[in-house]
Amino acid sequence: MRALILTDIHSNLEAFRAVLEDATSRGGFDEVWCLGDIVGYGPDPGECIELLRRHNHISVVGNHDLAAAGNLSTHDFNSHARFAVHWTAAQLMPEHTQFLLSLPEVIQREEFTLVHGSLRSPVLEYLLSTEAAIATFHLLESHFCLVGHSHIPFICREKNSLYSFEPFPEGDAVLLGEERLIINPGGVGQPRDGDPRPSYALYDSDEETIRRHRVTYHIEATQEKMRRAGLPERLIQRLNYGV
Ligand code: ZN
Repeated sequence: MRALILTDIHSNLEAFRAVLEDATSRGGFDEVWCLGDIVGYGPDPGECIELLRRHNHISVVGNHDLAAAGNLSTHDFNSHARFAVHWTAAQLMPEHTQFLLSLPEVIQREEFTLVHGSLRSPVLEYLLSTEAAIATFHLLESHFCLVGHSHIPFICREKNSLYSFEPFPEGDAVLLGEERLIINPGGVGQPRDGDPRPSYALYDSDEETIRRHRVTYHIEATQEKMRRAGLPERLIQRLNYGV
């Protein structure tokens, strides 16, 4: 079984399509595992939801999904994110909103637990510190945990009660062995690790490997749609830099 693991599509249809095409060209996938934030920031929220639903998928909910569906306050969002949430909410058809509200916070699949933020705070916490990683390892009932939310790819390894963050290499197979791992595949629709290319991972259950890949896409097409929609210029510009 092969799973395409992706997160933080953020209504960026061009980036999402590029990831699906790239994963298909690398041997394809049986399932899509989505770690939330399908919408928010970008210009195509409904189209991204529909494209995800056309694939055999499972998905947890993200903070932007909940906010756009009216089930999370935008109090903690910065002004640009809040603007985009309200813009997104106005674009969604009732069935899109219902779909977002139907998504669970946590899913367990095979050896993996899927969550947007962390197991301690499923939609809100950015899992980027050792302290946050330890809290999630304590709550983890499977061998591996897949997270998104920060849009930063990494692997956090538990070894003899020591915890270390390491880069999630691009292209090379990471063997899934005895050590428990928390894995972030990086973001699709708005990368934030200084590289504007969408990032995603492919899991192969026969090989017991996971590989991360990046792909180029037509950034200008997404930016032009954002401009036409009147979305904030700062959100348009950041796509150029991956920040
Ligand atoms: Zn996000």
